[in-house]
Amino acid sequence: MTDPTPTPTPGIHHVTCIAGDPQRNVDFWAGTLGLRLVKRSVNQDDPGTYHFFFADAEGTPGTSMTFFPWESLPRGAVGTGQVSRTAFRVPAGCLDYWEERFDAHGVDYGDRIERFGETVLPFRDPDGLPVELVEARIDGDDPTVPWTEFVPESAAIRGFHSVTLWLADPKPTGELLRTMGLEERDTEPTPADDPGDERTRFAAAGPVGAYVDVVRADESGRQGHGTVHHVAFQTPTDEDQAAMREAVQSAGLRPTQQIDRHWFRSVYFREFAGVLFELATNAPGYTSDEPLDELGERLVLPGPFEDRRGAIEDALPDVTVPRAETADANDR
Ligand code: ZN
Repeated sequence: MTDPTPTPTPGIHHVTCIAGDPQRNVDFWAGTLGLRLVKRSVNQDDPGTYHFFFADAEGTPGTSMTFFPWESLPRGAVGTGQVSRTAFRVPAGCLDYWEERFDAHGVDYGDRIERFGETVLPFRDPDGLPVELVEARIDGDDPTVPWTEFVPESAAIRGFHSVTLWLADPKPTGELLRTMGLEERDTEPTPADDPGDERTRFAAAGPVGAYVDVVRADESGRQGHGTVHHVAFQTPTDEDQAAMREAVQSAGLRPTQQIDRHWFRSVYFREFAGVLFELATNAPGYTSDEPLDELGERLVLPGPFEDRRGAIEDALPDVTVPRAETADANDR
């Protein structure tokens, strides 16, 4: 019997989304947003599809946004039972830079919003995925490491800020978040053009990806391009994960057994309102199979997939990762 009170999660570990064209996905997330492609691999359940991991310079837990470019799927619709918004931290005062950059790159962005005393810049990626930049205080001892190939340190994305969940009934999910160690922090009315009447913020203790906002919403959604597939929370060690798994199971959910995802070990479950949650260990990490200065340069095929490299490579479309030395003036 494990301790019934699990170690609180420090926050989000990664967010995984569904994209369309893989080249367009890499051009936007690595080129326009300036994240580092830290891992180029395949979907471990569908090795004919890429799995891209975009993160900070070192793939720090709490910074990786990952995509399955499933070209055959249709465009999705963000709705109830999904992560509706994924927000990233950026240094205070840099949103003018981002608006200019978005103008130069033709990115679809909205007006700035004030939310819980912070300034938020909403935009969409080329598949229509709703994303936000949130101005945050980033201290000298911040665990994230900026990747500055395309975006200067003064504006570089520094890991997740939060996810927003749209839920038919936020109450059981709120209880679950408490079980996972988040605390209910604050509630404020949602703007008139947003779903729901109010947004409630839950906060974890970690410096990165600490917030989960829940909104009661009744928007019909459909998984496809431009939607989030799942959100993973950090359970740094196997012991943390086992205890959290047990707590989640005791709460009435049905977590999977631990699955080896090569760069972390994972447990999955659908929470009460239908959002797919994952618990992910911090080890072994993205530098376990490639040197730090070569992350993302080659296709990495975990375990048994390496034996099928020829066939897998032949089936995947060619993708070129944008590099600063070949970028045009707009990218500088
Ligand atoms: Zn995952």
